[in-house]
Amino acid sequence: QSHSQDQSLDIPKTRFEDIGGQSHAKKELQEALDFLIEPKQTEHYGIRPLKGILLSGPPGTGKTLLAKAAAHYTHSVFIHASGSEFVERYVGVGAKRVRELFERAKKAAKKARVSSAILFIDEIDVIGGKRDGSQQREYDQTLNQLLTEMDGITTNVEVQILVMAATNRKDLLDDALLRPGRFDRLITVDLPDRSARLKILELHTHPKPLANDVQLEKVAEETFGFSGAQLESLSNEAAIYAMREKSKEVTQKHLMLAIDKVMMGERIDRETSE
Ligand code: ATP
Repeated sequence: QSHSQDQSLDIPKTRFEDIGGQSHAKKELQEALDFLIEPKQTEHYGIRPLKGILLSGPPGTGKTLLAKAAAHYTHSVFIHASGSEFVERYVGVGAKRVRELFERAKKAAKKARVSSAILFIDEIDVIGGKRDGSQQREYDQTLNQLLTEMDGITTNVEVQILVMAATNRKDLLDDALLRPGRFDRLITVDLPDRSARLKILELHTHPKPLANDVQLEKVAEETFGFSGAQLESLSNEAAIYAMREKSKEVTQKHLMLAIDKVMMGERIDRETSE
């Protein structure tokens, strides 16, 4: 087994404090997760286990980070998969992959000697989307397998599995996924507001040599509509500008240039994908 594969089985180091903004999402998520930490309590009250949490929001807003922080918070191993991995030409292969994924999660938790695993499925809409005919049979089997696995999650087992899924298009999801006992907790993640943008900029520029003239408040003000991922990219681009100029520090000018650069890049991406 390769080293990188082993790493993916670890408990992530991401903490909720490493995520800028999203205070609402963080709070809701922490509340939902407390059952994993207090299984005795939930059992005492006869509360059925939480099986699925759906994170919904625009790209790059920290959904993956939230899922990793959830794993860190609950001391769970983190298994990452993407909905598109299950799309196969042959009927049944997707379903088999789903079964294997749950197996892998259990094994990983045992190997790490922890009692829970968080299975994160990005782009869940690819397998859990509303039906439109063409590839129906294959998609149905994959989705059904996922639902079967989730229905099979009970308490009092050696490894408690929690499925966290993410989508940018909740409107496309099949209602079957959102029924109680499945993804019955929906957490909405939004684009960061100004103060969240400032926090995210602080997080990502912290390891960089910032000049005294830098006003991150100003950068936060000028980046309306930016996602966390774009702010991370901006921080990186600014440092690249500084390095190219052989400037020892990242200045306000570099940051402002980086805003344009990130905006420009997005525009080019959009034009080429249309
Ligand atoms: P996608 O829907 O495209 O998969 P996502 O919502 O899962 O995106 P992440 O993968 O969590 O987004 O974020 C991508 C990167 O953007 C992170 O690794 C991080 O560097 C940065 N980022 C995004 N949101 C935040 C945030 N709230 N705080 C700090 N960094 C963030």
